[in-house]
Amino acid sequence: MNVFKHLQHQRRELTGRAFDRHLRLGVTGLSGSGKTAFITSLVHQLTQGDQPSNLPFFDVVREQRYLGGRLASQVLAVPRFPLEQNLQYLQQTPPAWPPSTTGWSQLSLQLRYKAASGLRSHLQSHSELALDIIDYPGEWLLDLPMLDMSYAQWCEFSWQLFAKTHRSAAAQPFAQLLQNTDLQDASELHLQQLTDSYKQLLTQFHQTPGAYLNQPGRLLVPGVLSGAPMLQLFPLLPQQAEQPSALATQLEQHYDSYRKHVIKPFYQQHFSALDRQVILVDCLSALNAGYAAITELQQALRLILQSFNYGPSSLLSRLFKPKISKVLFAASKSDHATPEQHKALTLLLQQLLQQPLKNSQYQAATTEAMAIAAIRASSSGFVQADGLAQPCISGTGLDQQALTYFPGDIPPTVPPQEVFEQHKFAFLPLRPLPWNDTQALPHVRMDHVLQFILGDKLR
Ligand code: GDP
Repeated sequence: MNVFKHLQHQRRELTGRAFDRHLRLGVTGLSGSGKTAFITSLVHQLTQGDQPSNLPFFDVVREQRYLGGRLASQVLAVPRFPLEQNLQYLQQTPPAWPPSTTGWSQLSLQLRYKAASGLRSHLQSHSELALDIIDYPGEWLLDLPMLDMSYAQWCEFSWQLFAKTHRSAAAQPFAQLLQNTDLQDASELHLQQLTDSYKQLLTQFHQTPGAYLNQPGRLLVPGVLSGAPMLQLFPLLPQQAEQPSALATQLEQHYDSYRKHVIKPFYQQHFSALDRQVILVDCLSALNAGYAAITELQQALRLILQSFNYGPSSLLSRLFKPKISKVLFAASKSDHATPEQHKALTLLLQQLLQQPLKNSQYQAATTEAMAIAAIRASSSGFVQADGLAQPCISGTGLDQQALTYFPGDIPPTVPPQEVFEQHKFAFLPLRPLPWNDTQALPHVRMDHVLQFILGDKLR
């Protein structure tokens, strides 16, 4: 790494922090929830889309105090969020979605604005805010509760989960394999073979709509940990985990190393440095996938929210002093529904979060929930049906078919199981709208997002 550049970056960071002019924003959510699209849009709105007509609810832009944003020098040792490639995907013919998040990445911006009032507005022609945006898989947050479970408890938890209707058939062969395995054989080869089978099962779950809760988070996306012995990890059947055996002892050791060398350092080194957090939730895909999916989403959110529970007795306060002061929960891809349904989508998200939010102690963080589309892929309008104007959306399906339709109502609360038996929700995936880089990226409520996340820092 260029030492001078590194020092410059460090100095910028230190002075920025000293004067409260530096913000680290984490963006997370489960696989497919829309992180890549969100960060691509957020950065494009801040660097190219800063016209009041595009961001009417972002105060600094509406008040014409925003002087612009540009990409800042990146820390070379940290993977860079592939903004330029993502924008290229969107400009292809036909337009395509960029590839999804697979690990930790970062992009740094420098934002310039005129202070609205106070000393700074008199002394300086402009002020600056350094913004680091950090993308990481929500699956990594699902590992936190493992810190509070023994290996045997984790096995119990995992197999309870695998018994659910949308998982049990896929889990059957692995259960059979364990049933017939020699528990005294803790050889390297045996451990690796069983881990490979478990990895296959996790991959299958990963592709099953509504199977959100897959642990350990790094087995599917190992990043730099690929090949580390502690990733030879899988849950034995509960009755096997309770009895002493060579295999159970070895797995217990790997489980402890995973907690010590993966989970804890992630929180101590990375998570603890975040100031604000966006959590994306794809409620509509969960509705499409059925009752088991939406209840598992609720369970996964409950576990994810433990990472934002700062109570004195919380898991986190034992590891470090968290400082996240604002958390935005965003129901993503709201453009799959007609605009008058967005209120119900926000209410549904709030209900999914209600129980976990009530149980956790959010003394430190302000929270907000809203329905958004980072990159709007539909336009909304009305069609005449039975003499009445009915809301509809138009877009292009993944098979390039032009579509105009009413996608259906969004339930404002989690519907009971019977509703899913009688009714199939179908919020269809769409291709992005044709777009080129000279235009602002179409969105839904990204200005509200920016105001919540950055508004107070750009006064
Ligand atoms: P990630 O895995 O969290 O990084 O998710 P992505 O950002 O890759 O999004 C997964 C998929 O969701 C994309 O490929 C798109 O099909 C869809 N998607 C994401 N954001 C939007 C959005 O704002 N509107 C629509 N219509 N689709 C979206």
